[in-house]
Amino acid sequence: MIIDFHTHTFPSFLADRAIYTLGHNGRIKNYIKGTNDSLISSMNESHVDYSILLPVATKPTQTENINQTAIAINEFSEETGLISFGGIHPDNENPKKIIKDLAHNGVKGIKLHPIFQRTYIDDIKYLHIIEYACENDMIILIHAGYDITIPLYNYANISHILTMLDTLQPKNMILAHMGGWGCSSQVEGTLLGRDVYFDTALSLLRLKPAPNTKRRPEEAPPLSRERFLRFVKKHGASKILFGTDCPWDSQKNVIQFIKDSGLSDKDTSAILGDNAARLLKL
Ligand SMILES: [Zn+2]
Repeated sequence: MIIDFHTHTFPSFLADRAIYTLGHNGRIKNYIKGTNDSLISSMNESHVDYSILLPVATKPTQTENINQTAIAINEFSEETGLISFGGIHPDNENPKKIIKDLAHNGVKGIKLHPIFQRTYIDDIKYLHIIEYACENDMIILIHAGYDITIPLYNYANISHILTMLDTLQPKNMILAHMGGWGCSSQVEGTLLGRDVYFDTALSLLRLKPAPNTKRRPEEAPPLSRERFLRFVKKHGASKILFGTDCPWDSQKNVIQFIKDSGLSDKDTSAILGDNAARLLKL
């Protein structure tokens, strides 16, 4: 089974504008249109069984709509292969109720994005959210490291992540982007081996620069094959999840990179889907 643990889609009426703005700010080019249909086509082409959608509430007022959409999408997961996580903003007034409602409606996890939500990951508001999510047996996926669209913000850098981990020791937590986008040396020195999952999103291949940009995208260099293998060995293949950040990377290309990287068949299957299936209880 192949499960892409890190994808984004937008409602059809919004997709063009969202992709344009994010691509422009990050100076990267999308691989697919960013709608649910375009993701399903990519999954069919790349033999991906499930993709996890990770919506982000950039304002507290967006949470309700995001979560209604997530619940509606999840009604058809068996047919579409799309499983949506819920969203929550650190400034939402009743995080306990929001998380309880999500869990009650069968939503398996939440996505937190400290940079888009302008809050340090070890802020008390996030600590409460993470605690409630753990109490409800939910998966917590966190954007870790810097963000390509706002490269200077350090709300999710390694020192703050370590404080959060040391304070809560959460289970079922995923740090996106191999533990921290643009922070791989620090990740290697501090996070490898800890009891936390990483996803591979935007970490293995060079990003496609947006057309007509003279400047290169502010990209952190992707992990080389050797470095990826070292990360897998030191961290443990059972704690790495295939993820693409589709539409910003290609499901087909990332799967090929993992298959060609020289891992054993067992580790390859674990990373491409077995770990995710276990975590999602599929
Ligand atoms: Zn993402």
